Amino acid sequence: MELVQINEVGDMEHFGEETIPLTLTEKKDRWATCSSCSRKTCHEVIEGMCTHARIGDYESWDKFLIIRCKGCENLSFLKEHTLIMDDCTTDKNGRIIDGYESTQSIYPDPAALTKIQFMDDVEMLPQIVASIYKETCSTKSSGKYILTGAGLRAIVEAICLEKETKGEYLEDKIDNLAVKGIISTDQAKYLHGLRFMGNRALHKILAYSESEIRNAFEIVEHMLKAVYVIPAKAENLPFSKPENV
Ligand SMILES: [Zn+2]
Repeated sequence: MELVQINEVGDMEHFGEETIPLTLTEKKDRWATCSSCSRKTCHEVIEGMCTHARIGDYESWDKFLIIRCKGCENLSFLKEHTLIMDDCTTDKNGRIIDGYESTQSIYPDPAALTKIQFMDDVEMLPQIVASIYKETCSTKSSGKYILTGAGLRAIVEAICLEKETKGEYLEDKIDNLAVKGIISTDQAKYLHGLRFMGNRALHKILAYSESEIRNAFEIVEHMLKAVYVIPAKAENLPFSKPENV
């Protein structure tokens, strides 16, 4: 593909960009921070392509790679970007030591994921509830507060689904949670509040402030603890298993 760039003095400068398959050497394993286990691990390159372009007095290389962590087997996307100046300096072994720059970016971003704080005992939640809760936490940590508002509503939906509450609409299902004694009527009011937040986020594309989202999370985590964690812990205490006397 022939591309055109305007240089500093205003002249058009032509340069070529080509897409080329990776060589065997370029497919070698990479050390990178894993998007899932957050450790710096060796990654296998599953597939990839490379683009090369000459721009003025330097060459640009971009490698786009699908990689798999050899520790947890998580798949990520890695982009490696390298610029090499024509007058770069090499050492006696031909390795470039000056006149180049190289950057690496991974998606999902491991740095963003390490900021995610899950509630205590998250592993005690049912899978259907835990997965939407974790996704909503991930959305919150990336600052996407419209989607986070929608996610809060989805967590309430997941609780109702898991508890098999009756009702055509979420409003009825929340009320049914209280009727079944799974939550109190006061707690049902809190869930209705989260439902309203989700509705406004989705229907009015309304983003909440960080403090509103933080408070809503506190409520939802309190609810998850009350509905799932405390009953499970109580179940495992001796006092919940009275002996026949
Ligand atoms: Zn990993």
